[in-house]
Amino acid sequence: MSDRLIIFDTTLRDGEQAPGFSMRVDEKVRLALQLERLGVDVIEAGFPIASEDDAEAVRQVARSVSRPVVAALARCSAGDIDKAAEALSGARRRRIHTFIATSDLHLQHKLRMTRETCLELAVDAVRRARNTTDDVEFSAEDATRSDIDFLCRVVEHAIDAGATTINLPDTVGYSMPDEIASFFRTVIERVPNSDKAIFSAHCHDDLGLAVANTMAAIGAGVRQVECTINGIGERAGNASLEEIVMITHVRPDLVPVRSDVVTTELYRSSQLLTELTGQAVQVNKAIVGRNAFAHEAGIHQDGMLKDRRTYEIMRPEDVGVPASTLVLGKHSGRHAVQKACERLGLSFARRDLDEVYKRMIALADRQKTITDDDLKAIADAVMAGQRATAS
Ligand code: MN
Repeated sequence: MSDRLIIFDTTLRDGEQAPGFSMRVDEKVRLALQLERLGVDVIEAGFPIASEDDAEAVRQVARSVSRPVVAALARCSAGDIDKAAEALSGARRRRIHTFIATSDLHLQHKLRMTRETCLELAVDAVRRARNTTDDVEFSAEDATRSDIDFLCRVVEHAIDAGATTINLPDTVGYSMPDEIASFFRTVIERVPNSDKAIFSAHCHDDLGLAVANTMAAIGAGVRQVECTINGIGERAGNASLEEIVMITHVRPDLVPVRSDVVTTELYRSSQLLTELTGQAVQVNKAIVGRNAFAHEAGIHQDGMLKDRRTYEIMRPEDVGVPASTLVLGKHSGRHAVQKACERLGLSFARRDLDEVYKRMIALADRQKTITDDDLKAIADAVMAGQRATAS
């Protein structure tokens, strides 16, 4: 099995359809160009039948990027597929991504459709899509809650009809890591033509397991992952692209795949998405949050100043973050205060440094963080005290 992991970014589709994340066409193009610099393999640019704006965004993204495959989403209907094919016509490399729900819950209560009709629509849609491009992805929506025998039949027929990627989404974020691994192993083992398609995971974070489930799926043979910048997406979001990528970099000893993502572009991609949507990233978000490489506690700061490997498993510059930050606050120690003073061009004898430190802690008790200006003011006061004593 190949060790190449295909990164399918759906920030512009699943991410964008979440409340508060809508983007204009020109904004989508800017983000798509950044995704190209980031080195993702597939950009899902939208769902053309959903709105004329979505179709236009797919058209413009398709014309703007050259290296990544541009994908457009379509339900298993002729109208959706034709609309997607039209929107993608300007793309150098294009993929139609067609989907239908396969769980009884969705078939009976949402689509009001029998399993046989579902199977027929899936096959017809894949064939129709294959007439316009040889890169066709089929997704069985709510796959992880589908009857496994029926799901395997649908997957087998979709591959026979020409699907080159089979995506089995955990649409509602219900799976657990061990469970999703055995789910993928079962499907790949039982579907007789599974070797003719690449299997893909699309995990949601309703229980905070999207990335863990994605990694478990990779272990079970999945070679495409669907993910988003900052983990945005429906409800609690999708699996976070930056987390998956950095897991593969930090733990190559345990992860059997590599990707072509340019990790130094991760932070910039995250920042651009924040800028375009106005939605901030939580401060403690892995990889790209403001605190991901920030240290306030004295013991940690002291360790970092001696050897940063003591408290960091990645270098901030590897993900495009300028540098680790040692934040001064009430948990900080003398070593960090001394470094901060040196950075500001101030040096103190031991006793005066103790005084600066004491005053910093006292101020930090009243306010949450200490700025450079705060530290300068304290330093000035301590120096003024020195002069007063000397004269
Ligand atoms: Mn989704």
